[in-house]
Amino acid sequence: REPLLEIKNLHTGFDIDGKTYHAVKDVSFDVKPKEVVCVVGESGCGKSVMSLSIMDLLPKHNGKIDKGQILYKGKDLVPLNTKEMNKIRGKDISMIFQEPMTALNPVLTIGFQMDEVLVNHTKIPKEEIRKKSVSLLNQVGISRAEQIVHEYPHQLSGGMRQRVMIAMAIACQPQLLIADEPTTALDVTVQAQILELIGKIQDEVGMAVLLITHDLGVVAEMADRVVVMYAGQVVEQSNVDNIFYNPKHPYTKSLLSSIPRMEEEVEVLNTIKGIVPSLKNMPEAGCRFVDRCPEAMPECRKITPRLGETEKDHSVRCILYDASHPDKAEVQS
Ligand code: SF4
Ligand code: MG
Repeated sequence: REPLLEIKNLHTGFDIDGKTYHAVKDVSFDVKPKEVVCVVGESGCGKSVMSLSIMDLLPKHNGKIDKGQILYKGKDLVPLNTKEMNKIRGKDISMIFQEPMTALNPVLTIGFQMDEVLVNHTKIPKEEIRKKSVSLLNQVGISRAEQIVHEYPHQLSGGMRQRVMIAMAIACQPQLLIADEPTTALDVTVQAQILELIGKIQDEVGMAVLLITHDLGVVAEMADRVVVMYAGQVVEQSNVDNIFYNPKHPYTKSLLSSIPRMEEEVEVLNTIKGIVPSLKNMPEAGCRFVDRCPEAMPECRKITPRLGETEKDHSVRCILYDASHPDKAEVQS
């Protein structure tokens, strides 16, 4: 299958005090049609910047993509202007966010906002728009939709607002849904319902999902493939089984060991020691995980690992693996 979305050598920088710092540095991965790809990592690892880069939603005053390509069905989105991107946003690619309150307009009714999406992006005749809005709300499990269309965002619970956002996101039957921490702000039972809904909708609509999360439970539930990010880079990438049962990168292993285990009487949270280096403190050379890595060696500070394929469909950025070691790897394109 041809990929739907191909991210190639993406570099996204922020200008701070006259210098450019890269929050995303050389990120590459694909999303195939109908596939669920999860991007996982702690906060501050570049996941959100990566998704905002795809949607052209970086802060205009200091954020920019300064290298790389974002190919959607083979067409590079990076050079497109706002008008051209608006055509793609919401129609081919939709996005849902962590806090739907920020994406919904507080002074407009749910119905008005749903209708507007349909008016702007579809050719549905005017007199059928409201009916379609109601049916979309039904599709995301909102039963009293006729009533909800007259309400304002603040009158709904967080879970209901996220359902509305999902209804708006699928209104135009996008081929790709980008969901950035869509359940983080919700309580645990509602989280499960929203994830189940995304899975169900993904099936019904036949769209691909790029799901950004820090929660490996979500990854286990949803992913076909997993991209693990650390400090602005992809450090491991494979199918979901390899990530959980055959993880290679020390960071992936640390993330997995930090999942609380249900069967343990006392919940032990093995959180990884230390924090992701800040934008201004990224090491120039060597491995970016070195200060927190339980397997670090002196050469990890000098040799910069690259993302190398250790086996088919499994890539790692760590010099413990020859494919990732610049002096040992066979030359790859
Ligand atoms: Fe750890 Fe070294 Fe591998 Fe980096 S390159 S993840 S520091 S072992
Ligand atoms: Mg984020």
